Amino acid sequence: MANEREEENLSFRAWLKGKDGNKVDVLVQKINEEIAPKIDCTQCGACCRQLMINVTETDADRMALHLKMNTETFKEKFVEEGNSMMIMNCIPCHFLKGNKCKAYESRFTECREFPNLDKPGFNNRLFATLFHYGMCPIIFNVIEKLKQEMGFKRKH
Ligand code: SF4
Ligand code: SF4
Repeated sequence: MANEREEENLSFRAWLKGKDGNKVDVLVQKINEEIAPKIDCTQCGACCRQLMINVTETDADRMALHLKMNTETFKEKFVEEGNSMMIMNCIPCHFLKGNKCKAYESRFTECREFPNLDKPGFNNRLFATLFHYGMCPIIFNVIEKLKQEMGFKRKH
């Protein structure tokens, strides 16, 4: 379905850009509050399986503590560093077991925030959000409800 709707989503992205970003944020957050609790991430795990996860210094310290190792050892084992950025050195993530995170309490900031639908600035993140439309059922359903509630004319 995501593939079939690629062209439609491009039009939706362009259409949405012309709308009041604050009003869009309020609507997206309302829809997200309805949709997200109905989707069980432990039945999915797609983001842990497919995303390249950014790691901050705070994330590295917290995860190292969780793993009872020092931060340098954590970085050597699990992180790739470059251009003042750090990313996990493995996709799917090392800490995914089945569909669940083995280090949930200490998971990285990006993991806590994805899919970022509860934050202001939705219109500024449209490219990234629609990029994950086919991967994340929360994004898929929020976008579809948003089209409906905003009166966007669907192609099919
Ligand atoms: S740390 Fe946990 S939540 Fe984050 S990507 Fe890995 S398995 Fe998923
Ligand atoms: S891809 Fe979306 S629905 Fe699936 S686990 Fe990640 S946040 Fe949850």
